[in-house]
Amino acid sequence: MTGAPPLRDALKAQGLFARKALGQHFLLDETICARIAAAAGDLRAKPVLEIGPGPGGLTRALLNAGADPLFAIEKDARFVDFLQPLAVGSEARLRIIEADALEIDEAALLSGARTTIVANLPYNVGTPLLVKWLKAGPWRGDMVLMFQKEVAERIVAQPGEPAYGRLAVLAQARCAAKMVLRVPAGAFSPPPKVDSAVVHLTDKPDAYAHLDALERVTAAAFGQRRKMLRSALKTLTPDSERLLHAASIEPTARAEEIGLAGFLALTEAWRAGAP
Ligand code: SAM
Repeated sequence: MTGAPPLRDALKAQGLFARKALGQHFLLDETICARIAAAAGDLRAKPVLEIGPGPGGLTRALLNAGADPLFAIEKDARFVDFLQPLAVGSEARLRIIEADALEIDEAALLSGARTTIVANLPYNVGTPLLVKWLKAGPWRGDMVLMFQKEVAERIVAQPGEPAYGRLAVLAQARCAAKMVLRVPAGAFSPPPKVDSAVVHLTDKPDAYAHLDALERVTAAAFGQRRKMLRSALKTLTPDSERLLHAASIEPTARAEEIGLAGFLALTEAWRAGAP
Protein backbone atom coordinates (compact mmCIF):
# COMPACT_ATOMS: atom_id res chain seq x y z
CA MET A 1 0.00 0.00 0.00
CA THR A 2 2.74 2.45 -0.88
CA GLY A 3 2.51 5.42 -3.22
CA ALA A 4 -0.64 6.93 -1.62
CA PRO A 5 -0.50 10.71 -1.01
CA PRO A 6 0.21 11.91 2.57
CA LEU A 7 -3.08 11.79 4.50
CA ARG A 8 -2.87 15.36 5.78
CA ASP A 9 -2.72 16.66 2.20
CA ALA A 10 -5.54 14.41 1.02
CA LEU A 11 -7.81 15.49 3.91
CA LYS A 12 -7.10 19.14 3.22
CA ALA A 13 -7.67 18.75 -0.52
CA GLN A 14 -11.10 17.20 0.12
CA GLY A 15 -12.07 19.68 2.85
CA LEU A 16 -12.55 16.90 5.42
CA PHE A 17 -12.66 18.24 8.98
CA ALA A 18 -12.87 16.26 12.23
CA ARG A 19 -16.30 15.83 13.85
CA LYS A 20 -16.13 16.07 17.64
CA ALA A 21 -19.38 14.17 18.18
CA LEU A 22 -17.81 11.10 16.55
CA GLY A 23 -14.65 11.30 18.66
CA GLN A 24 -12.55 12.09 15.59
CA HIS A 25 -8.88 12.58 16.44
CA PHE A 26 -6.79 11.30 13.58
CA LEU A 27 -3.47 9.57 13.78
CA LEU A 28 -1.59 10.63 10.68
CA ASP A 29 1.91 9.60 11.81
CA GLU A 30 2.91 6.52 9.80
CA THR A 31 5.48 5.36 12.36
CA ILE A 32 2.97 5.31 15.24
CA CYS A 33 0.36 3.58 13.06
CA ALA A 34 2.94 0.94 12.09
CA ARG A 35 3.85 0.41 15.77
CA ILE A 36 0.19 -0.16 16.69
CA ALA A 37 -0.21 -2.68 13.86
CA ALA A 38 3.03 -4.40 14.94
CA ALA A 39 1.70 -4.72 18.50
CA ALA A 40 -0.87 -7.18 17.12
CA GLY A 41 1.90 -9.62 16.09
CA ASP A 42 2.08 -11.37 12.73
CA LEU A 43 -1.04 -10.31 10.78
CA ARG A 44 -0.10 -11.83 7.43
CA ALA A 45 -3.17 -13.47 5.86
CA LYS A 46 -5.09 -13.05 9.13
CA PRO A 47 -8.60 -11.61 9.43
CA VAL A 48 -8.60 -8.24 11.19
CA LEU A 49 -11.45 -5.98 12.32
CA GLU A 50 -10.80 -2.26 12.57
CA ILE A 51 -13.35 0.11 14.12
CA GLY A 52 -13.41 3.70 12.93
CA PRO A 53 -10.79 3.78 10.17
CA GLY A 54 -11.43 7.51 9.60
CA PRO A 55 -8.94 8.72 6.99
CA GLY A 56 -7.15 5.36 7.15
CA GLY A 57 -3.71 5.88 8.70
CA LEU A 58 -3.98 2.74 10.82
CA THR A 59 -5.88 0.99 8.00
CA ARG A 60 -2.90 1.48 5.69
CA ALA A 61 -0.54 0.15 8.36
CA LEU A 62 -2.73 -2.94 8.84
CA LEU A 63 -2.77 -3.59 5.09
CA ASN A 64 1.01 -3.12 4.98
CA ALA A 65 1.27 -5.70 7.79
CA GLY A 66 -0.60 -8.20 5.57
CA ALA A 67 -4.09 -8.25 7.17
CA ASP A 68 -6.42 -10.23 4.92
CA PRO A 69 -9.32 -9.68 4.97
CA LEU A 70 -9.46 -6.35 6.81
CA PHE A 71 -12.99 -5.33 7.80
CA ALA A 72 -13.23 -1.62 8.60
CA ILE A 73 -16.43 -0.38 10.28
CA GLU A 74 -16.99 3.38 9.94
CA LYS A 75 -20.01 5.42 11.02
CA ASP A 76 -19.07 8.57 9.09
CA ALA A 77 -20.11 8.23 5.43
CA ARG A 78 -17.54 10.86 4.39
CA PHE A 79 -14.71 8.49 5.29
CA VAL A 80 -16.42 5.48 3.74
CA ASP A 81 -16.18 7.42 0.45
CA PHE A 82 -12.68 8.72 1.17
CA LEU A 83 -11.37 5.19 1.70
CA GLN A 84 -12.75 3.74 -1.55
CA PRO A 85 -9.48 4.20 -3.50
CA LEU A 86 -7.60 2.39 -0.74
CA ALA A 87 -10.12 -0.47 -0.92
CA VAL A 88 -9.79 -0.64 -4.71
CA GLY A 89 -5.98 -0.69 -4.45
CA SER A 90 -6.05 -3.41 -1.79
CA GLU A 91 -6.99 -6.20 -4.21
CA ALA A 92 -10.20 -6.92 -2.28
CA ARG A 93 -8.43 -7.28 1.05
CA LEU A 94 -10.03 -4.13 2.54
CA ARG A 95 -13.80 -4.20 3.06
CA ILE A 96 -15.30 -0.97 4.33
CA ILE A 97 -18.68 -1.16 6.01
CA GLU A 98 -20.74 1.89 6.93
CA ALA A 99 -22.23 1.01 10.32
CA ASP A 100 -22.32 1.77 14.03
CA ALA A 101 -19.82 -0.56 15.70
CA LEU A 102 -22.05 -0.85 18.77
CA GLU A 103 -24.76 -2.45 16.65
CA ILE A 104 -22.92 -4.80 14.32
CA ASP A 105 -23.14 -8.57 14.67
CA GLU A 106 -19.45 -9.41 14.31
CA ALA A 107 -19.89 -13.18 14.33
CA ALA A 108 -22.21 -12.97 11.30
CA LEU A 109 -20.06 -10.39 9.50
CA LEU A 110 -16.85 -12.35 9.98
CA SER A 111 -18.51 -15.75 9.34
CA GLY A 112 -17.22 -16.87 12.72
CA ALA A 113 -13.54 -16.71 11.68
CA ARG A 114 -11.19 -15.94 14.58
CA THR A 115 -10.37 -12.28 14.10
CA THR A 116 -7.90 -9.85 15.64
CA ILE A 117 -9.37 -6.45 16.53
CA VAL A 118 -7.14 -3.40 16.09
CA ALA A 119 -8.54 0.09 16.56
CA ASN A 120 -7.95 3.66 17.59
CA LEU A 121 -11.32 3.79 19.31
CA PRO A 122 -13.60 6.81 19.49
CA TYR A 123 -13.48 7.92 23.15
CA ASN A 124 -17.24 7.99 23.67
CA VAL A 125 -17.82 4.32 22.78
CA GLY A 126 -14.49 2.72 23.75
CA THR A 127 -15.63 1.18 27.04
CA PRO A 128 -18.98 -0.27 25.82
CA LEU A 129 -17.21 -1.75 22.78
CA LEU A 130 -14.58 -3.38 24.99
CA VAL A 131 -17.25 -4.87 27.28
CA LYS A 132 -19.15 -6.15 24.22
CA TRP A 133 -16.01 -7.85 22.89
CA LEU A 134 -15.02 -9.28 26.27
CA LYS A 135 -18.34 -11.16 26.22
CA ALA A 136 -17.99 -12.20 22.57
CA GLY A 137 -17.77 -15.78 21.33
CA PRO A 138 -14.85 -17.68 19.80
CA TRP A 139 -14.68 -15.37 16.71
CA ARG A 140 -12.89 -12.78 18.83
CA GLY A 141 -9.10 -13.10 18.91
CA ASP A 142 -6.50 -10.73 20.38
CA MET A 143 -7.35 -7.06 20.72
CA VAL A 144 -4.99 -4.11 20.28
CA LEU A 145 -6.98 -1.05 21.25
CA MET A 146 -6.20 2.60 21.77
CA PHE A 147 -8.10 4.37 24.56
CA GLN A 148 -7.67 7.62 26.38
CA LYS A 149 -4.87 6.96 28.86
CA GLU A 150 -7.13 6.97 31.96
CA VAL A 151 -9.30 4.21 30.47
CA ALA A 152 -6.22 2.17 29.51
CA GLU A 153 -5.03 2.49 33.13
CA ARG A 154 -8.41 1.29 34.39
CA ILE A 155 -8.14 -1.84 32.20
CA VAL A 156 -4.69 -2.95 33.42
CA ALA A 157 -4.98 -1.76 37.06
CA GLN A 158 -4.25 -4.04 40.01
CA PRO A 159 -5.97 -4.16 43.45
CA GLY A 160 -5.07 -1.20 45.65
CA GLU A 161 -4.28 1.09 42.69
CA PRO A 162 -6.49 4.15 42.25
CA ALA A 163 -7.61 3.05 38.75
CA TYR A 164 -8.66 -0.42 39.95
CA GLY A 165 -12.35 -1.09 39.50
CA ARG A 166 -15.05 -2.84 37.54
CA LEU A 167 -13.31 -2.54 34.16
CA ALA A 168 -10.04 -4.11 35.43
CA VAL A 169 -11.91 -7.06 36.93
CA LEU A 170 -14.05 -7.67 33.81
CA ALA A 171 -11.13 -7.35 31.39
CA GLN A 172 -8.74 -9.46 33.45
CA ALA A 173 -11.36 -12.17 34.08
CA ARG A 174 -11.19 -12.88 30.36
CA CYS A 175 -7.87 -11.56 29.14
CA ALA A 176 -4.26 -10.91 30.01
CA ALA A 177 -4.07 -7.14 29.58
CA LYS A 178 -0.97 -4.99 29.19
CA MET A 179 -0.28 -1.45 28.11
CA VAL A 180 2.02 -1.52 25.09
CA LEU A 181 2.29 2.07 23.89
CA ARG A 182 1.62 5.57 25.20
CA VAL A 183 0.68 8.16 22.60
CA PRO A 184 0.81 11.86 23.51
CA ALA A 185 -2.17 14.06 22.63
CA GLY A 186 0.03 16.03 20.22
CA ALA A 187 0.34 12.99 17.93
CA PHE A 188 -3.32 13.39 16.88
CA SER A 189 -4.98 15.80 14.54
CA PRO A 190 -6.80 17.61 16.08
CA PRO A 191 -5.14 16.87 19.46
CA PRO A 192 -7.54 15.66 22.18
CA LYS A 193 -7.40 17.10 25.72
CA VAL A 194 -5.81 13.93 27.13
CA ASP A 195 -3.05 11.47 26.23
CA SER A 196 -3.85 8.02 24.85
CA ALA A 197 -2.47 4.53 25.34
CA VAL A 198 -2.66 1.22 23.49
CA VAL A 199 -3.67 -1.91 25.40
CA HIS A 200 -3.01 -5.47 24.20
CA LEU A 201 -5.57 -8.03 25.38
CA THR A 202 -5.25 -11.75 24.80
CA ASP A 203 -7.61 -14.47 26.06
CA LYS A 204 -6.47 -16.40 29.12
CA PRO A 205 -6.62 -20.19 28.92
CA ASP A 206 -8.86 -20.12 32.03
CA ALA A 207 -11.03 -17.20 30.86
CA TYR A 208 -14.05 -16.81 33.15
CA ALA A 209 -17.32 -17.66 31.40
CA HIS A 210 -19.99 -15.82 33.42
CA LEU A 211 -19.26 -12.21 32.59
CA ASP A 212 -22.85 -10.98 32.97
CA ALA A 213 -22.95 -12.24 36.56
CA LEU A 214 -19.49 -10.80 37.26
CA GLU A 215 -20.72 -7.48 35.87
CA ARG A 216 -23.61 -7.46 38.39
CA VAL A 217 -21.31 -8.29 41.31
CA THR A 218 -18.65 -5.71 40.41
CA ALA A 219 -21.28 -3.04 39.75
CA ALA A 220 -22.59 -3.55 43.31
CA ALA A 221 -19.12 -3.82 44.90
CA PHE A 222 -17.59 -0.78 43.19
CA GLY A 223 -20.83 1.21 43.13
CA GLN A 224 -19.88 2.32 46.64
CA ARG A 225 -16.17 1.61 46.57
CA ARG A 226 -15.33 3.35 49.87
CA LYS A 227 -17.86 1.25 51.80
CA MET A 228 -17.20 -2.13 53.37
CA LEU A 229 -18.40 -4.96 51.14
CA ARG A 230 -21.04 -6.12 53.64
CA SER A 231 -22.71 -2.79 53.09
CA ALA A 232 -21.92 -2.26 49.36
CA LEU A 233 -23.22 -5.71 48.38
CA LYS A 234 -26.63 -5.04 49.97
CA THR A 235 -27.78 -3.84 46.53
CA LEU A 236 -27.12 -7.40 45.31
CA THR A 237 -28.51 -9.40 48.23
CA PRO A 238 -29.99 -8.52 51.60
CA ASP A 239 -27.77 -11.09 53.35
CA SER A 240 -24.44 -9.86 52.04
CA GLU A 241 -22.53 -11.21 55.05
CA ARG A 242 -23.50 -14.79 54.19
CA LEU A 243 -22.50 -14.24 50.55
CA LEU A 244 -19.10 -12.92 51.64
CA HIS A 245 -18.67 -15.83 54.04
CA ALA A 246 -19.44 -18.30 51.22
CA ALA A 247 -16.68 -16.65 49.16
CA SER A 248 -14.26 -16.57 52.14
CA ILE A 249 -14.02 -12.76 52.07
CA GLU A 250 -13.96 -10.61 55.21
CA PRO A 251 -17.22 -8.62 55.47
CA THR A 252 -15.21 -5.54 56.44
CA ALA A 253 -13.06 -5.65 53.26
CA ARG A 254 -13.51 -3.00 50.57
CA ALA A 255 -13.90 -3.70 46.83
CA GLU A 256 -10.63 -2.00 45.93
CA GLU A 257 -8.68 -4.57 48.05
CA ILE A 258 -10.22 -7.65 46.46
CA GLY A 259 -8.29 -9.33 43.65
CA LEU A 260 -9.70 -11.15 40.64
CA ALA A 261 -9.84 -14.53 42.44
CA GLY A 262 -11.97 -12.96 45.20
CA PHE A 263 -14.44 -11.48 42.71
CA LEU A 264 -14.71 -14.78 40.86
CA ALA A 265 -15.39 -16.59 44.18
CA LEU A 266 -18.07 -14.00 45.05
CA THR A 267 -19.69 -14.38 41.63
CA GLU A 268 -19.69 -18.16 41.86
CA ALA A 269 -21.25 -17.98 45.35
CA TRP A 270 -23.89 -15.55 44.06
CA ARG A 271 -24.64 -17.76 41.06
CA ALA A 272 -24.92 -20.78 43.32
CA GLY A 273 -27.64 -18.95 45.21
CA ALA A 274 -25.75 -18.17 48.39
CA PRO A 275 -27.31 -17.00 50.55
N1 SAM B 1 -8.60 5.20 12.96
C1 SAM B 1 -8.52 6.61 12.63
C2 SAM B 1 -7.18 7.16 13.02
O1 SAM B 1 -6.49 6.51 13.85
O2 SAM B 1 -6.81 8.22 12.54
C3 SAM B 1 -9.65 7.40 13.27
C4 SAM B 1 -9.76 7.26 14.76
S1 SAM B 1 -10.94 8.36 15.48
C5 SAM B 1 -10.34 8.38 17.14
C6 SAM B 1 -12.39 7.36 15.68
C7 SAM B 1 -13.10 6.95 14.40
O3 SAM B 1 -14.24 6.16 14.75
C8 SAM B 1 -13.64 8.07 13.55
O4 SAM B 1 -13.34 7.83 12.20
C9 SAM B 1 -15.16 8.04 13.77
O5 SAM B 1 -15.92 8.52 12.68
C10 SAM B 1 -15.38 6.57 14.02
N2 SAM B 1 -16.56 6.25 14.85
C11 SAM B 1 -17.07 6.98 15.88
N3 SAM B 1 -18.11 6.33 16.44
C12 SAM B 1 -18.26 5.17 15.75
C13 SAM B 1 -19.16 4.08 15.84
N4 SAM B 1 -20.11 4.03 16.79
N5 SAM B 1 -19.03 3.05 14.96
C14 SAM B 1 -18.08 3.08 14.00
N6 SAM B 1 -17.19 4.09 13.87
C15 SAM B 1 -17.27 5.13 14.72
